[in-house]
Amino acid sequence: MVKTTATNNYSLIFLILLLQKYHLKFCLILLSFLMLCFEKAYCWGFYGHSKINYCAVFLLPPEMMILYKPNIQYLTEHATDPDKRRYAVEAEAPRHYIDLDFYGERSVDSLPRNWSKAVDAFTLDSLNRHGIVPWHIQLMLTRLTEAFKQNNYSSIMKNSAEIGHYIADAHVPLHTTSNYNGQKTNQNGIHGFWESRVPELLAENEFNFFIGKASFIKDPTSYIWKVIKESNQAIDSVLYFEKALTNEIAEPFKFSFENRNGKIIKQYSSNFTKRYSLKLNGMIERRMRQSILTIASFWYTAWVNAGQPDLQKLTAQHFNQQELLDFEVLNETWRKANSIIGREE
Ligand SMILES: [Zn+2]
Repeated sequence: MVKTTATNNYSLIFLILLLQKYHLKFCLILLSFLMLCFEKAYCWGFYGHSKINYCAVFLLPPEMMILYKPNIQYLTEHATDPDKRRYAVEAEAPRHYIDLDFYGERSVDSLPRNWSKAVDAFTLDSLNRHGIVPWHIQLMLTRLTEAFKQNNYSSIMKNSAEIGHYIADAHVPLHTTSNYNGQKTNQNGIHGFWESRVPELLAENEFNFFIGKASFIKDPTSYIWKVIKESNQAIDSVLYFEKALTNEIAEPFKFSFENRNGKIIKQYSSNFTKRYSLKLNGMIERRMRQSILTIASFWYTAWVNAGQPDLQKLTAQHFNQQELLDFEVLNETWRKANSIIGREE
């Protein structure tokens, strides 16, 4: 989501209505508290990424569950580390998206799956400018497989948490287009709306997270590119139904104001959010469920390809002092940072 302090037209209309209805002084006090902003960027949202990694653990076979279940809190909390890193590391941003429209009429099927071939074809600079998420997931899978081969507890946990993040991002339609926040179609804010606001409002009570079991993926590269292609094909609906609903609902009712952690923030209203999800006919729930299944299957595939090492012996291990310190430094850097480096979504 995007941080902004600007008061837009709708909030002004809202305030004018309040001024007419209530005492001026009250409204001025309220105005001083109004932080008309969305919060820091988290792609699927803090809630969404955490929930997705959490649910993925329960799809694993017992031989993996023995390590993943006791570490579920780590996998949940650190699902958002890659987004936090976007406030500190310049190279991080492109790992979360790919602008398929940049490649024009060229079919997604024709893009090089091999990273070196992609660099040869488009240059490193261009790839980084337009996003590298499918290639980065391939790299993360290699790292996770290696971590299993080496029986390296820390590396298994870190790479599991983080590949979960990138895989979840790959399932988000707006992570596959340069119109990632609806900025080219006058739909600013749709990014956080689709991937944060809708799940935060509806997932806990209305989405079904009973999903089968992780399965071995013979060709993870083809699999993740298929995910990207499906995400991209959903963009038209994501944009069209938001616009259609905006035309149906009077503008002041599209948004509402909510107290969040002591701040009044502007949100898409509950009514607008629920009606949007209905129009999408369960798309966000489906992409969330698919994310969970893909993550568990990638974890499982890495473990199988590493020779199915016995994870029981890793269950007594913990992160060392330096690693704990590194986590804290990342958190602090993120907390203090004012802006993201590179693309905001
Ligand atoms: Zn992300």
